[in-house]
Amino acid sequence: METQQEVILIKLGELVLKGLNRRVFEDALIQNIRRRLQGAGEFSTSIAQSTIYVQPEGDADLDEAVQRIAQVFGIAAFSRACAAPKELSAIQRAAAQYLRDELETAQTFKVESKRADKKFPYGSPEISREVGAYLLEQFPHLRVDVHEPDCTVYVEVRDFAAYVHGTPLPGAGGIPVGTAGKAAVLISGGLDSPVAAWMLAKRGAELVGVHFASPPYTSPRAEEKVARLLEIVSRYSGQIRMYTVPFTHVQEEIRKHCPEELFTILMRRFMMRIAERIAGKEGCGALVTGESLGQVASQTMQAIGCTDIAVQMPVFRPLIGMDKTEIVARARRIGTFETSIEPYEDCCTIFTPKHPRTRPNLKFVLEAEQALPGEEWVETCAEQARYRKIYPGAL
Ligand code: ATP
Ligand code: MG
Repeated sequence: METQQEVILIKLGELVLKGLNRRVFEDALIQNIRRRLQGAGEFSTSIAQSTIYVQPEGDADLDEAVQRIAQVFGIAAFSRACAAPKELSAIQRAAAQYLRDELETAQTFKVESKRADKKFPYGSPEISREVGAYLLEQFPHLRVDVHEPDCTVYVEVRDFAAYVHGTPLPGAGGIPVGTAGKAAVLISGGLDSPVAAWMLAKRGAELVGVHFASPPYTSPRAEEKVARLLEIVSRYSGQIRMYTVPFTHVQEEIRKHCPEELFTILMRRFMMRIAERIAGKEGCGALVTGESLGQVASQTMQAIGCTDIAVQMPVFRPLIGMDKTEIVARARRIGTFETSIEPYEDCCTIFTPKHPRTRPNLKFVLEAEQALPGEEWVETCAEQARYRKIYPGAL
């Protein structure tokens, strides 16, 4: 048997459409892939003709690389492929060897070829025909079915080699993280905000996390849970700078001095303002929350209106139109679900009024707030926030 050089071929996602920005997007994507592959062995990563090549050097772990690449945004699809010299006979042998298992279990197959190197003497239909004929010889039980084959053999003849692979795997989609600015996500230990964070990263935003903690009402383990959630998100988004804001004083003071039914809305306005202050220092262009319309009392249109107006930055709520079942399905898919359902108290669930205002009147909210040293709280909380870096494998 000939030894086979395996590579991963990556097809770029939406960024192919981006015209002049294309180079920026490609560079970001390659950087993100390289960073994500750190610790999985040595790889060389290059780009040619809209395809990124990831080539293992030495004993790099290709299985691990495939799993990691599946989490990088900006990739439409990718394939684990075998490289062969650019000769028909070598391509034929490579196809028979590399896809042996699949071809043995399939009843029907077809070959799809692409000649990216126009100097190669055979056209795509000829390549397909020749490779197909060889495979029929080698696997006599097979039949050709061009409409619904059990197995499709792909042949790509490119600049430096020919590549053979089976059906490509779907990539994570989206656009490369870092190409759409930076956003600060208000992150709790719940189900929703990690999914919201993931969605912004998918659209290319680099993430900063802001978490409010109210010790001793909330435990250090609740904060650790948030860090673990962000670690999972960071496998997609790359490094996240996480801030933990000491929020006990603010909550206690609001409870002491304000009408009970306005507690939640006032607390949420302060969360927004403090997050905005931190976001500004971090160079973020937006805040992100995991709110979904009508999910709880503080997520009615009126309540959201009252919190939005506390800040100048745009507030993105990517889950606004999603049902809980859809959010849960997404959380399972990205891997945050199991951690999110661990039971730790969030600061939002302490001191909650029995009858919160679902339709707060902004006038009363602002009146109640006047009695509070707002700016001082925002400044102190932002200043006292503790900061740590979260990245894949950090915890
Ligand atoms: P989640 O599942 O994200 O906790 P939720 O459905 O429990 O959301 P709330 O607890 O009302 O709803 O929180 C709404 C949003 O406010 C959250 O999605 C998050 O963005 C933000 N938030 C809530 N608690 C905190 C916290 N302790 N620190 C930072 N942000 C928070
Ligand atoms: Mg919550």
